[in-house]
Amino acid sequence: MPAEDGLASAKKSILRLFFGGEAATLAVSVVKEFREFFRLLSPVEAPSEPDVVEIHSHRMPILYRRHARARNYVLRLHHNKTVMVTIPRLGTRKFAREFVTSRKSWLEKQWRILEARRAPPLVLRPGMEILLGGRPVVLELRPQGETWELQFGLERTTVANPAGNLRPALENHLRRLARIHLVRRVRELAREHPSSVKHIVIRNQRSRWGSCSCNGTISLNWRLIQLPDAVRDYIIIHELMHLRELNHSPRFWQEVEKACPDYRAAEEWLKQNSGQVGF
Ligand SMILES: [Zn+2]
Repeated sequence: MPAEDGLASAKKSILRLFFGGEAATLAVSVVKEFREFFRLLSPVEAPSEPDVVEIHSHRMPILYRRHARARNYVLRLHHNKTVMVTIPRLGTRKFAREFVTSRKSWLEKQWRILEARRAPPLVLRPGMEILLGGRPVVLELRPQGETWELQFGLERTTVANPAGNLRPALENHLRRLARIHLVRRVRELAREHPSSVKHIVIRNQRSRWGSCSCNGTISLNWRLIQLPDAVRDYIIIHELMHLRELNHSPRFWQEVEKACPDYRAAEEWLKQNSGQVGF
């Protein structure tokens, strides 16, 4: 039987697709078609092609693991540059190999996501890129009279020690920018979508974009200025709508959608790219 038949029916039975911290996983259930069952009874041939798959020009070895209790073929991409396939009791290595080939574009997409989620470097040097307003900008160091200036995009700031880590100077500058631009943007959006915001606080939060309290205070992460404008606006609107509904009820999401019809695209952007923010 053509391999595509088996794969086509497997495609319809994708069970889950989720994300771990350092690995992406995809599972399909064992194909139960009669013809496929017949094929499973035939002797297992050794694959003729070498067991590596090329992902964004990285040659990744494929590791096979048979699992007596597994009910699905499970494909896992690890950040340590291996692809792991779990073969269920009734499964074949040949089908597992075809499964990898047929999911190449999924693997490439997950590779990009894992890359984007990698912890950013602690030490920032000239030539590195950071995200600003959703666009990558390169850090450049230029002599400026007696001192040095860090330039990125349209921004400029003085650096005391050009040989050292650029992170402190960069963070100070971006936090200053955030205090001006984010506060102004919150006021604009609060006028557009009437909200009773009383105080705006710009914070250095590690794990959240924003929060709000019932006394009318909105706290925002300064890193919002690194996001595309539409995503930044969505996060602000999300917090403003919490001043109306202090929960994540369907009513809250209705308010969000009315004020920001494209909010799902913003959520998706955050899911895919938030690892690039915070440099
Ligand atoms: Zn919320």
